[in-house]
Amino acid sequence: MALRIRGPALPHGEHVDLYADGDRWTTDPVRGADLVAEGWLLPGLVDAHTHPGALAPGDPLDGELLREHLRAHVDAGVTAIRAPGLAGEPPSWFGVAEDVPRAWHAGPWLAQPGQFFDGWGRRVDHADFPAVAAAQAARTGWAKVVADWGIDDDAVPVDVLTAVVEAVHAVGGRVAVHTQHAAGGAAAVAARVDSVEHGMWLDPGLLARMAEQGTALTPTLSPFWSYLPDARRRPDGPRKEWFVRGAEAHGPLVAAAAEAGVRVLAGTDSVPHGRVSDEVRALAKAGMRAHDALGAASWDARAYLGLPGLEPGAPADAVVYAEDPRGDLNRLSEPLAVILRGRCVRGGR
Ligand SMILES: [Zn+2]
Repeated sequence: MALRIRGPALPHGEHVDLYADGDRWTTDPVRGADLVAEGWLLPGLVDAHTHPGALAPGDPLDGELLREHLRAHVDAGVTAIRAPGLAGEPPSWFGVAEDVPRAWHAGPWLAQPGQFFDGWGRRVDHADFPAVAAAQAARTGWAKVVADWGIDDDAVPVDVLTAVVEAVHAVGGRVAVHTQHAAGGAAAVAARVDSVEHGMWLDPGLLARMAEQGTALTPTLSPFWSYLPDARRRPDGPRKEWFVRGAEAHGPLVAAAAEAGVRVLAGTDSVPHGRVSDEVRALAKAGMRAHDALGAASWDARAYLGLPGLEPGAPADAVVYAEDPRGDLNRLSEPLAVILRGRCVRGGR
């Protein structure tokens, strides 16, 4: 069944009238197409950092839970995700079935021996890191490296990380790097990784270099902020100080990153799934313009993943709102309709 949407399309706000007969937008009228929604149009939302399919750290990937998490994303208007780390090999329908978002993933997290959550990811020696990461990226397009972990742990050395980036780029892949300490962040930027995940304690002095070399930042700000009240009640000590001070500095870091021209991506890293609008609101609260905070979860994130916006020939995804969501980001939680692969999967007339 062909469908049609129309209204002002973000990011530019020009009026569009689009038809989908299958998974491609076209401006050529399709006879009998159902006008499913009219309003402010976005080319779908994106959660650029989510780990669907498992609940607690260390749990194996559960296919039923995976579907449930992905449907929660779709219900929230998310039509594409990036999973920088999965608890297991995803089933063949992941990223392609009609009721789940398009998906990019990095397979298992790659971490140094003795670091990261027990039961999750793969432990890799420095000498093997470039080849292991490149093999993963050759399969799925991404490798995820945990560059630092506990407060007393050593970060992955910059020469190792640089060799990883070179090996992954040589096979056409990209590298996402988890960092929550200054040393790991500095190594990630020096190694010219493709995206810094979290980036807590990142030296703001490195932001200009990130912007220049095209390293994105996925700050996962909303989960950090949601853990803060609990963290503040913990007994004093170096771990508490690391997290509380890092999370308190994280909002200003995000604002400075956007100001410096770093590409910021919205990622939730959290359960419940389907909460990317919380991250958009957090980015805005931290100081990003509402337009840019929304782009971090929509057109800009899609462009980063290689997906075009609301234009002829683009994959037929959209989320439709009654009013301009930039005027009140709370509207993000109330889409009139969600279109995925040319099908109306939520709302609509
Ligand atoms: Zn994560």
